[in-house]
Amino acid sequence: MSASFSSFLYLISAICFILALKGLSSAKTSRAGNMYGMVGMAVAILTTILSPSVASYSYILLGLVVGGGVGFVIAKRIQMTALPQLVAGFHSFVGLAAVFVAASALLSPAAFGIGIEGAVHTSSLIEMGLGSAIGAITFSGSLIAFGKLQGLIGGKPLSFKGQHQLNAILGGLIILLIAGFVGSQSHFMFWALTFVALALGFLLILPIGGADMPVVVSMLNSYSGWAAAGIGFTLNNHLLIITGALVGASGAILSYIMCKGMNRSIVSVILGGFGAEATASGGASASHEDRPVKVSGSEDAAFMLSNARSVVIVPGYGMAVAQAQHALREMADMLKKAGVKVRYAIHPVAGRMPGHMNVLLAEANVPYDDVLELEDINSDFGTTDVAFVIGANDITNPAAKTDKSSPIYGMPILDVEKAKTVLFVKRSLASGYAGVDNDLFYRDNTFMVLGDAKKVCEEIVKSMD
Ligand code: NDP
Repeated sequence: MSASFSSFLYLISAICFILALKGLSSAKTSRAGNMYGMVGMAVAILTTILSPSVASYSYILLGLVVGGGVGFVIAKRIQMTALPQLVAGFHSFVGLAAVFVAASALLSPAAFGIGIEGAVHTSSLIEMGLGSAIGAITFSGSLIAFGKLQGLIGGKPLSFKGQHQLNAILGGLIILLIAGFVGSQSHFMFWALTFVALALGFLLILPIGGADMPVVVSMLNSYSGWAAAGIGFTLNNHLLIITGALVGASGAILSYIMCKGMNRSIVSVILGGFGAEATASGGASASHEDRPVKVSGSEDAAFMLSNARSVVIVPGYGMAVAQAQHALREMADMLKKAGVKVRYAIHPVAGRMPGHMNVLLAEANVPYDDVLELEDINSDFGTTDVAFVIGANDITNPAAKTDKSSPIYGMPILDVEKAKTVLFVKRSLASGYAGVDNDLFYRDNTFMVLGDAKKVCEEIVKSMD
């Protein structure tokens, strides 16, 4: 295959990736977006494999079989609720790959066509230094994010005195080491900058608490894109540069949008220690035992729902855990048939990853038009008869508006409290991801329907039959 033909095919797959991103920006076009992404990736892989510079197929085949096999098993087994940590885990591999590519270029520059040992082009040295530094930060940072999301490391921010100063010193040191490496081509400087970057990755993500984790995962996504673009420069592969830049830019934009959605400044998130004091009271003024709550059975809940004129369903992480989306849709269909106006309200960080609830509701064939984003539905709660909060907690917690000491302070919430009646479907009075009590459980217009989300929906359906 000639070089110009493979450049043409790379251009086609780059266009497919751009169309994929465009498609994925809305639920209605996301299937087409995924299709474009798959076609683009297939074209990219085939073009690379058929390139004349490939000297032997054995390692490529081995990589495809081992990597593809592991990916296949993970994709089959993974629970929807574990996707954020999987994404964080995958980001760590992209970071590590960037370090490996830079290290390979350092050890055999001639094989990469970037000069010979001791006389490597300056631009390639800068790319290698930057690629390895960003890759190492992405690798270690993603490992910590994985550990936190998987519950292997506590979700509490781990901060210590002078940590910001230490991070600033390490950041400055990395820049000096890159400059030193470019000037001297010293292997020692290369490995030193890589290890300092690894340490910085750990230190940057460790202090970040639970509620800010979504932003971190998206930021690491962005870093992994820039690391991939760095690899692209070293390998002189235009497609990798374009794809890396697309991932880097879209991850950065998503982080910005999420920060806006949670009313956080991106600088505060990056500087850390902002997220979650997991044991914080979050504004509840007394402990669970002291305060009465109204508990309702499924039959009463069915009665309240079918006598309502309008119902807004607020799904959260617990719906995903219980896989209640199908039973929930069945319940909503019955209500609609009975003339009740039913809509779904989606908070930008409901569940454990951006778009988590949209994916589950789409899987259950909930019509897109019934699903509304926070800013489109929030003003309607005042005229809603029943807010049906299923497996959600933090995203409804008014402490986010009223309690400055709460770790979720500043996050916009769905104003379910304004509905005439609020039904909370969950198993107990336990807190959610951010570890804060929810004052709404104790309000006069709230009824707790205690139980597994799927079971409760099934029982409500039975009662309405
Ligand atoms: P929360 O984690 O606040 O609450 C979920 C609730 O679901 C829990 O209180 C739990 O209560 C209940 N639950 C768990 N299992 C079940 C079950 N089987 N049946 C019924 N209920 C169940 O979730 P939200 O969606 O309200 O908020 C998301 C939180 O996650 C936010 O703090 C957000 O910042 C964070 N986050 C979001 C990410 C994203 O990108 N979306 C990524 C990472 C974190 P109980 O145990 O009593 O049943």
